[in-house]
Amino acid sequence: MKVSFNKVGFIIFLTFLAVINLYSQNIPYTILISFDGFRWDYTSRGLTPNFDYIEKHGVKALSLKSSFPSITFPNHISIVTGMYPQNHGVIANTMYDPATDKIYSLYDTAEVRNAYWYKGEMIWETARRQGVITASYFWPGSEMNLNYRRPNYYEKYEHNRDYLERINGVINWLKLPYSERPKFITLYYDLTDSEGHRYGPDSPQVNAAISKLDSLLGVLFNKLEEINLRDSVNIIIVSDHGMTEISKDRYLNIEELSSCNSCKFFNRGAIMNIFIKDKNEVDAVYNRLKLKESHYKVYKPSEIPAEYHFNYNHLIGDLFILSEPGWSVGTTKDKDRMHDYNGGNHGFDNSFMDMHGIFYAIGPSFKENYKTGTIENINIYPLLCKILKIVPKQNIDGKLENISFILKERE
Ligand code: AMP
Ligand code: ZN
Ligand code: ZN
Repeated sequence: MKVSFNKVGFIIFLTFLAVINLYSQNIPYTILISFDGFRWDYTSRGLTPNFDYIEKHGVKALSLKSSFPSITFPNHISIVTGMYPQNHGVIANTMYDPATDKIYSLYDTAEVRNAYWYKGEMIWETARRQGVITASYFWPGSEMNLNYRRPNYYEKYEHNRDYLERINGVINWLKLPYSERPKFITLYYDLTDSEGHRYGPDSPQVNAAISKLDSLLGVLFNKLEEINLRDSVNIIIVSDHGMTEISKDRYLNIEELSSCNSCKFFNRGAIMNIFIKDKNEVDAVYNRLKLKESHYKVYKPSEIPAEYHFNYNHLIGDLFILSEPGWSVGTTKDKDRMHDYNGGNHGFDNSFMDMHGIFYAIGPSFKENYKTGTIENINIYPLLCKILKIVPKQNIDGKLENISFILKERE
């Protein structure tokens, strides 16, 4: 095909216009930070001067309501897709797919990177398609095995990666030449979740974790100051869920109670997905568990309360168990891991206030000294799209109008 110089010139001109357009849109930098398992009320313990500063100069929501189930992977992915877990597909940290006989687990790196499981479009995919550069210093779903579904820059998850090194990584991205610099960056810390599981939400260890994470915010502010970006960066701090106290004295062995021959049990603690090979056994197992129902609920997927938005995905299984807050369910082999059932846990009913997380935001896009009630985490994706001046994906669950009032300018 012969392409005339005029045509080439025109294409170059259009590309130039697109680049100018992106530049002139003046998209602010936005850092989305997740403090895993940071309960909504942890900032009222008098340990968090940096959060207090943000409260005064930015936005604070009473709480951030998790999507159901109130678990890490489902909720981090709801935050970056604007979809309920049953719609984005990551319905738990461990999932069994009867269609492929494959198991997903957050400890199985190959499956964590397998794009098959992730049915929603993440904010970095939306942004990338529209020419906005993104980066992730850890986030569930950021390491997919398809290049175009990942942020432009990303780090492979390493639980023990030094906390300051993570901030330095973010700062280094912000020091890149303008044309390579990301406009949107994620950052993740597990500490409040890990200590919360081990010692419970009211422990001195959790208080130390709260202080430490708060002081990291101070470090980030100072480092942004050093590169002259303090006033031009939006910082949004969220958590995926809260934490509540559990005890090994509040434990129920569902395997024993079900007396089931062909059951496979996935997940434990707050929720359990039961897959029953012999479909003739489903009703009998259900009836047995229903008869003994105490401190847990047994559901066929179609019976799961509508408010959870969790009733049709085939990964839910034949039966679903939800523990009463503070109780745990498990199988016979879990008897050896009773230490897991002391301390704290999450995954329970997402209306239970202990399962709520935090939402704080500060920066050029946000109102100052502005407080609002509870926000649902599915609304964060449309908010991010608005800030990044990109068109959100259609058919999501979140709505911009449920959150846009926290922005300085509403169009
Ligand atoms: P859980 O308390 O079971 O809901 O999950 C919390 C755990 O998820 C943390 O302790 C981390 O080890 C793990 N985790 C968080 N982000 C990632 C990630 N991007 N890749 C793998 N594991 C992660
Ligand atoms: Zn979590
Ligand atoms: Zn956890």
